[in-house]
Amino acid sequence: MTEVEETQDWPTHCDACGTALQRGTLDMDKTNADHPVLRPGEMAMQDFCPNEECPANKPGQD
Ligand SMILES: [Zn+2]
Repeated sequence: MTEVEETQDWPTHCDACGTALQRGTLDMDKTNADHPVLRPGEMAMQDFCPNEECPANKPGQD
């Protein structure tokens, strides 16, 4: 019998460097007040690589 873990549909580790991803709220509208309410269309939960050395972390190389 194979034990199957509940796996996420999204990666938990960075493709580029293997660092564990962190999750944060991306506020796409900087005019919003700084409060924790998630506004659909303006903000999104996003996984990001905390590794500053990560090749995927370089701006403009998306
Ligand atoms: Zn990375």
